[in-house]
Amino acid sequence: MIEARQKLMPVYSPPDEVFERGEGARLFTESGASYLDFIAGIAVNALGHVHPAMVAALKDQAEKLWHTSNMFRVPAGEQLAAKMCEATFADRVFFTNSGTEAVECAIKTARKYHWARGDKDRYEIITFSGAFHGRSLGAINAGGNPNYLEGFGPPLPGFTHLEFGDHDALRAAISDKTAAIFVEPVQGEGGVRALPEACLTGLRTLCDEHGALLIYDEVQCGMGRTGRLFAHDWAPDAAPDIMAVAKGVGGGFPFGACLTTEATGQVMQPGSHGSTYGGNPLAMAVGSVVWDTIANDAFLAEVRRVSTVMVQGLKSLADSHPDKVEGITGKGLLVGLRLKAAPKPVQQACRERRLLTGVAGQNVLRLAPPLIITDEDVREAIGIIDAALDSWEIAT
Ligand SMILES: *Cc1c(COP(=O)(O)O)cnc(C)c1O
Repeated sequence: MIEARQKLMPVYSPPDEVFERGEGARLFTESGASYLDFIAGIAVNALGHVHPAMVAALKDQAEKLWHTSNMFRVPAGEQLAAKMCEATFADRVFFTNSGTEAVECAIKTARKYHWARGDKDRYEIITFSGAFHGRSLGAINAGGNPNYLEGFGPPLPGFTHLEFGDHDALRAAISDKTAAIFVEPVQGEGGVRALPEACLTGLRTLCDEHGALLIYDEVQCGMGRTGRLFAHDWAPDAAPDIMAVAKGVGGGFPFGACLTTEATGQVMQPGSHGSTYGGNPLAMAVGSVVWDTIANDAFLAEVRRVSTVMVQGLKSLADSHPDKVEGITGKGLLVGLRLKAAPKPVQQACRERRLLTGVAGQNVLRLAPPLIITDEDVREAIGIIDAALDSWEIAT
């Protein structure tokens, strides 16, 4: 018999372990082996696996109504949008099923905004090296990673890619054709790189000077991940005009959103955009629980506290493995251990010791645990990474 696994499009190459069940920060295989999950479905399971309140909300909604499409009102979505607006810069929300779709909505809204003001040639979007905005044609063109663009036809016009941190290039590139600057406050895939807070404030000022919009991709770094509700909340006076979110906002249910100010959101009129599933009752039921839990000062303070414990632990690893570790990057509970060679062997050595981690950029071991981890979980993870680093015969 053919192996069913080979019937999947081979865009992923997962390890052999199969997880059957989850609970909090733990995953269990079919044979009952327990793993500590410090990647959380790539920063998705913000409240851990099988959170009781999320399960209850999903079950309850599943017995009432699954889907009507946006032809009809979804009151839970209206209420969730109102809460999101109350707690953020935003006045309008569009619900999606994924981060990529939230990004598409953000790009379309930015361009439509200028078009609606009669500025039809102002469609240029500026992004930065190491950016990741998703895998649709629009998103790979925004991201500009040549590996993701190769083979998929000519690059789309209207995207300018600059070196991360090159202020002179940015000043030279921004013009009256610039629709928006588009940036992740903390780059995820690109290597867990946090943009300095002053840079976010600087981008806001630069956009204002040139009549350009500021778009944040907080798909990975948002929703409590950095210890503030959104990563840009760390920076003073750096609110965006548009923000894409996903991953953590659904906590494991496919759900994202594009948040906008009134001035930008109101250009999206009937017919401008849409989604069959976006904001459906199941997503709204789960998303409301996630929002109510994380958009809470005490919850976020605890994320910041655990984050300092984790960063201290990682710093001690950097001190004890100076030949293998270059430093720590990231923010809150989106943290990278920058290694002196490609991180896959360390990731594998961790997995063999029952700790799940991710990788990012060229040389970063990425940690994005559920936001509900305990000090004990952190100590266990640090111990395993320590052992994995010990066992690593770094190729030079
Ligand atoms: C994961 C991610 C996306 C894409 O989200 P999907 O849900 O996979 O479509 C976009 N931007 C950033 C920063 C991400 O981390």
